[in-house]
Amino acid sequence: MMGEFDTRLLPATARPDDPAVTQAAKLLRQGELVAIPTETVYGLAANALDPDAVAKIFKAKGRPQDNPLIVHISSLEELPPLVTEIPDRARKLAEAFWPGPLTMVLPRSSRVPDVVTAGLETVAIRMPSHSVARAVIQVSGLPIAAPSANLSGKPSPTSARHCMEDLTGKIPLVLDGGPCQVGVESTVVTLTGDIPRLLRPGAVTAEQLREVLGLIEVDPAVLEKAEDGPVASPGMKYMHYSPKASVVMITGPWSACKDFLARQQDEGVWALVFDEDLGDCPLPAIGLGPRNDAAKQAQHLFSALRELDEQQARLVYARAPFEEGMGLAVYNRLIRAAGFSVIDLMG
Ligand code: AMP
Ligand code: MG
Repeated sequence: MMGEFDTRLLPATARPDDPAVTQAAKLLRQGELVAIPTETVYGLAANALDPDAVAKIFKAKGRPQDNPLIVHISSLEELPPLVTEIPDRARKLAEAFWPGPLTMVLPRSSRVPDVVTAGLETVAIRMPSHSVARAVIQVSGLPIAAPSANLSGKPSPTSARHCMEDLTGKIPLVLDGGPCQVGVESTVVTLTGDIPRLLRPGAVTAEQLREVLGLIEVDPAVLEKAEDGPVASPGMKYMHYSPKASVVMITGPWSACKDFLARQQDEGVWALVFDEDLGDCPLPAIGLGPRNDAAKQAQHLFSALRELDEQQARLVYARAPFEEGMGLAVYNRLIRAAGFSVIDLMG
């Protein structure tokens, strides 16, 4: 046995009497951690109302204490006890996008422990749509704090195997609900200011939020490196999603990228490119997904980054995705994997 736990991996269905679901719910009620599938990425779940259980999340992941967690619920009745106010905008967003990959930041109630919110006066809340996640929340009867079920800094897990790679020995149970449909973390929007503000892009796009809310602001940290000091979305300031290799983003037309890549050939140098360009890429390469399908790129991104580790890549040049629609979420994750290092080949 490696580590404190002999970690079990159980296939899970959404049936409330599925033994995997009842076992997960029992562990959560006992204050233990369980990795569960959601539609975005796999989550490392704990009872959100139990500070000791939540503290185990930070320990297992090696997550900085000042990075707050999202609380997951399975029905709207679970929301009022967690917040002091439900603004009209929150009701509208819930109606449009819940259950689904949208997290709302709201004023927190005193029931939510400090360790969940990293001491902030707000709490981030989401209602996932994945049937296994919903079953686990329902059967446990608890609000569930859950960040991504990876070691801090590594690419987020989009399969149960990824969770096992990172957390074997550190937690008692991983539920396998198949590969994640979305593949990147939820959209985060804060509703505490005058104007709703997008803190993290995801599958619910800025355009979709505007359709429901009218005006929204996009936090500068979505596309640029956050300055030192307080930031609206604490998670945005960290180096993230990184394979062991150094990642450098390249922007510009494929012809310019191709010429550049041809000059970089060396041991351990790889490229991450659109599927259409795999055939004439001068470096060994992995496909991110089709050029014009950001949803597919999002699905593949984190497993592609993990695959580059398996290939023992040392340096990876990653073609920049388009920043529209869901492409903004893909770009946001990739630029962080690259530590904001970009080579502009626009010519
Ligand atoms: P993760 O659990 O890794 O998907 O990260 C959750 C992210 O949601 C954090 O890194 C923050 O950026 C954001 N978040 C969570 N709670 C809050 C909050 N109260 N205020 C602002 N952002 C939050
Ligand atoms: Mg994470």
